[in-house]
Amino acid sequence: MTHYFNSLAETMSADELKSHQNRRFLELLRWVLSRNDYYRNRFSALGLTQPDDFGTLEHLSELPTLCKEDFRQTYPLGMCCVDKEEIREMHMSSGSTGSPVVMPYHETDIDQWAECMARCYVMAGTVPGNPVQITPSFGLFNGGFGMYHGARKAGLFVIPTGSGNTERQVRLAKDFDTKILCGVVSYAIRILEVMRAMEIELPHLKIGIFGAESFSEGMRKRIESELGIESFDIYGMTETGGVGTLGMDCPCHAGIHVWEDHYLVEVLDPATGKPVPDGQQGEIVVTSLTRLALPVIRFRTGDLSKIVSREKCDCGRTHLRIAPIVGRTDDMLIVKGVNFFPKQVEHALLEIPGVLPHYQIVIEEIDGVRDVRINVEADETVTGYMVEKHLKERLGFSPKGDVFKPGELPRQEGKAQRVFYTTREQ
Ligand SMILES: [Zn+2]
Repeated sequence: MTHYFNSLAETMSADELKSHQNRRFLELLRWVLSRNDYYRNRFSALGLTQPDDFGTLEHLSELPTLCKEDFRQTYPLGMCCVDKEEIREMHMSSGSTGSPVVMPYHETDIDQWAECMARCYVMAGTVPGNPVQITPSFGLFNGGFGMYHGARKAGLFVIPTGSGNTERQVRLAKDFDTKILCGVVSYAIRILEVMRAMEIELPHLKIGIFGAESFSEGMRKRIESELGIESFDIYGMTETGGVGTLGMDCPCHAGIHVWEDHYLVEVLDPATGKPVPDGQQGEIVVTSLTRLALPVIRFRTGDLSKIVSREKCDCGRTHLRIAPIVGRTDDMLIVKGVNFFPKQVEHALLEIPGVLPHYQIVIEEIDGVRDVRINVEADETVTGYMVEKHLKERLGFSPKGDVFKPGELPRQEGKAQRVFYTTREQ
């Protein structure tokens, strides 16, 4: 039997959704134009001053897009639409360059976040009282608190371990019968490894909710069979209000449901900025319809995906589904004229029997020419030649493959770094 956190919202008809979105969209434009100079200046530069003239979804594609750079230029609160006294929380993500991206929350925004996240928990099959272990850090990064706010709303028993100390994580999961594990998939692999070393089993663990890093279908299958769980791919980022705001896949695992009563999704050609037809890959662009402190209008996420279906899902939810994120526009690697994403390498590697889910993609630049080396852990049946041959078949070019013994590659407590760059001259 399907459970919903908010059945009215999650199963509303396409017509109801559309009229709800139209109404919210106009309210959103009136809100930002009355509250914020940055938005007002951008819009008035294009002659858009009266929201009632262009505040319908038909006009959406005429509005300017936002990108990470807009957040950086307006650091700290230049895009905020509420008074500072009305801010109740903030989260932040730091890029490698420039100022960080800041997301302020009004009281109602925290509630909106909790609602979206609670829908995700219930969609994964939780019921009130279930122990949930939250392994992202409780700090400026949005992961820990988002999972916390949602778990409170969904009535779960929160075990807020935060990140690190994997042996303690395993012991607490055992002692308190953790049913749901939240975090990044690479940390779940680390937990699995430590469980085996400690000879501890977690029979109560049934659900894994993983976000913040994209993982391949091969990785999903491995982690599900080895941990004995069902895993879910949760979506959301600082700019949209944090983890879970955009949605998650349901037990049908036929795409990520985007909470369309809260967010509008467009898929655009990253080069031209023009919409692409459903089913075609492009950049996910998001408009948040219900946030007060810092709503985004046409935010370019950099994430590449496609719309899988707008039809009602077998789970009964009507909200559209997008494919798992294949990668970010800025994660795409180009070597010897071939474009690929780290996730494709992962998927190909895990198809080789005996290969373990620990690997590195090393981009070596030798005298200005790029080459790829894949370091991967595997049992003794796997050779470097086997890895090279399989990757050539799957990716269309020949990276060098080096096989390491189990445990030889470095481990990380949080999101794993997979891609490394080296430069040398000969
Ligand atoms: Zn569904």
